[in-house]
Amino acid sequence: MRDFFLTHEDRAFRAEVRTFMSRELAPKVNLIERDQDFSAQLALVRVLGQAGYLKLMFPDLYRGALPKPGLTHAVIVSEEAAYLNYAFETTIATALSCAYPIHRFARESLRERYLLPILEGRSLGSVCMTEPSVGSDSAGMETRIRFDEEAGEWVVSGVKRYISNASKANVYIVWGVTDPDLPPQKGLTAVLIPAHAKGLTFPRLYDFVGRRGSIVGEVAMDEVRVPGENLLGEVNGGFNIMLSAFNFERVILGGSGLGVARAAFDIACQHAQSRVSFGQKLGQKQLIWDMIAQMSWKIDAAELLTHRAAKMYDSGIGGKDLMREASQAKLVATETAVFCADRTVQILGGDGVTRQYGKAEQLYRDARTLPIVGGTSEMCKYLIASREMPSLRLNL
Ligand SMILES: Cc1cc2nc3c(=O)[nH]c(=O)nc-3n(C[C@H](O)[C@H](O)[C@H](O)COP(=O)(O)OP(=O)(O)OC[C@H]3O[C@@H](n4cnc5c(N)ncnc54)[C@H](O)[C@@H]3O)c2cc1C
Repeated sequence: MRDFFLTHEDRAFRAEVRTFMSRELAPKVNLIERDQDFSAQLALVRVLGQAGYLKLMFPDLYRGALPKPGLTHAVIVSEEAAYLNYAFETTIATALSCAYPIHRFARESLRERYLLPILEGRSLGSVCMTEPSVGSDSAGMETRIRFDEEAGEWVVSGVKRYISNASKANVYIVWGVTDPDLPPQKGLTAVLIPAHAKGLTFPRLYDFVGRRGSIVGEVAMDEVRVPGENLLGEVNGGFNIMLSAFNFERVILGGSGLGVARAAFDIACQHAQSRVSFGQKLGQKQLIWDMIAQMSWKIDAAELLTHRAAKMYDSGIGGKDLMREASQAKLVATETAVFCADRTVQILGGDGVTRQYGKAEQLYRDARTLPIVGGTSEMCKYLIASREMPSLRLNL
């Protein structure tokens, strides 16, 4: 049985979101993928916000029909969006990854200014951790954040790269070193930078193999000044904010992986049941059965792990207690997306690698970024193993 962890209410919500996505997103996927029309995405984000789907993670702000909205429902939205178009799903998932720390760690005045516009789909957010010389190894961050006592302002200098929604977001959460003398996990701070801040520029946008239509670029900060109140959490408390943001992001990425995997699997099953080869349906060949069976159980495993992590979060489990489960969900769902997209291309043969015959080739390209973003598969494995062997220090 699919959806085993979901309640009757969760399933009804999924049906509602699926209808919503086929009405609103499905007609726009060509504009996003082929024409790379970002204004089409912005219009969709607005519709999604108006429907209340961006507030699911924030029960105090949510005003929709669900009595207990939560991460489970946000994952459902991600899965259904990614099923139709992964690029669009990354635009909203990134905005939510920015909204989440603002909701939890920002001063009230900033929440009012920046949070509601994101959750109502009127603006976008972005999170900036990765740098040219630092990706997985965030300890080596070179961005510097210092406090100018006289002006009462934070001053930020550095370059971030591979930043989703760069140049399109209205607000950026930036992590940097405030105290280089402390161990890296203790000397990081996060601040909010509005898009109009002087000294904030976007020198380059990247062209990726997949996720076409999403915007990913460089964010450069040259002595950018923001008011003291733009601090998130505490000074030198940035690492813990990063940890909790990663838990949230990884469970959402479980939903993204599931959406892409399911989209590929449906194409494979449909093709295997209709294409005739050597006088029989392709799906009657045992080698094809093997591929279908493997995709099937991998998707179910990914779904169970993702829904378990989301339900754990919704029951109040977080921080280090969710790290293993969130990492497992992200690891298995994103690797499953790559596996399913690859096997689907194989089952389709020439049609699988041709733009003229459907979407398999797009899913193949889209899937490949999934095990890289939000903590690579290797990093997720380290985190999982470190929780299983608590007596050993994580040795990267
Ligand atoms: C499309 C896209 C969107 C992104 N969006 C954002 C964003 O919005 N915000 C943001 O901050 N970042 C973003 N990123 C960056 C992403 O998080 C990083 O690419 C990722 O963390 C990996 O860092 P890296 O690319 O520097 O690779 P590296 O850290 O250099 O790693 C390269 C490879 O080596 C492996 N590796 C590294 N260390 C070890 C080790 N100790 N043992 C074994 N293997 C190891 C990694 O797993 C990886 O396979 C995005 C990236 C992409 C591609």
